Amino acid sequence: MESSNSAEAVWSRRVLGYNHMVLDGRDEFPCELESPERRPEPESPPPCPEWSVPSVTPGGALEALRKYVSERSLDPTAAREATVTHIEDIVLYRFRLETFTERRFTCWNTEPYNEEEQDQPEPPPPDAPPLPPPWDVPMEDPPPFIVSSKDLPLPHTRKIMKCRSCNGRGILRCDCRNGKRDCYYCDGDGFKTQLRYDSYTRFSYVQRQMCVTCSGEGRKRCSFCKGEADVECSVCLGQKKTMVSVSLSVRWSNNPDQELCGEDSGLDLLRYLPGRVLLTHTAPRVSPITDFPEPSVLRASQTLVQKHEQEQDDNTKILKQRQSVELVCVSKVTYQWRGRTRHFHISGEDLFVDKYPEKSTWCCCM
Ligand SMILES: [Zn+2]
Ligand SMILES: [Zn+2]
Ligand SMILES: [Zn+2]
Repeated sequence: MESSNSAEAVWSRRVLGYNHMVLDGRDEFPCELESPERRPEPESPPPCPEWSVPSVTPGGALEALRKYVSERSLDPTAAREATVTHIEDIVLYRFRLETFTERRFTCWNTEPYNEEEQDQPEPPPPDAPPLPPPWDVPMEDPPPFIVSSKDLPLPHTRKIMKCRSCNGRGILRCDCRNGKRDCYYCDGDGFKTQLRYDSYTRFSYVQRQMCVTCSGEGRKRCSFCKGEADVECSVCLGQKKTMVSVSLSVRWSNNPDQELCGEDSGLDLLRYLPGRVLLTHTAPRVSPITDFPEPSVLRASQTLVQKHEQEQDDNTKILKQRQSVELVCVSKVTYQWRGRTRHFHISGEDLFVDKYPEKSTWCCCM
């Protein structure tokens, strides 16, 4: 009978059962949050500073159009002669919420056994402190709102074990057929067919030729196992034994969500236009915006903050949240040239011109 202080028992007591780990072939064990009641209170965002919507004058709009035309070497006639008849400002707000989270897993690490590298006696020393609860392991602050990860080996968890991949044989069966594979050139047929043309009879006919690559056998020696039918186990590298250990794997992820708020103008371009940040608020937990003149921003903030809260599960810790409101505005400029009405859009330095009338194309259309 095995004594309760044998190397096996000491290691098992220390490692198996830690965060419900079992040697059942699974590699990862998500760590449940131990104290959800430690959640921080949500913080209210600061008041939004005053802002104004940039306005475009007819002269400024035409000047921008002329610059656009000249940069693209288009016919300048229309831009020179056009008259602006109307400018409409389209103002929208982009609400964005990011939730930066941390997840922890305990994982099995399996490395090929290497006698020289074994740096630790078995079993764990009797004075080895117990493994700390996963969420109590101190961790330096990660760069916020950036996806990253870190693996931390847990002390005194290494153990030499029979390789579970090859069951201690050091080799694995190759996925070929007894050291051979179908010939890639003839697909295992042993022959190739070719359509030939007889210039004398002027008929096409099918010619069957023995495959020269496999000499008609249809199969070739497997290059992976070199015809041996067995390959070295890739887990233990033929050592038959592995060194297993436990590490704590920490993963940081960012979950961004955004909504375009305001009257839908049907202008797809607004989804991609960069905006001007009016308000940004970072806190351990944010509470929805309550003070903003556009009601749809308040609704978006309420909905997304609630959605992110509902998405949090027992294994995920929210580290930080960031909400922001951007002003996205574009002016629709209507102009007339030679009796026709056309438009273009202008946003800051960017111009979006659809079907600019060049003199040559205009002549063709007439
Ligand atoms: Zn062949
Ligand atoms: Zn093979
Ligand atoms: Zn193996």
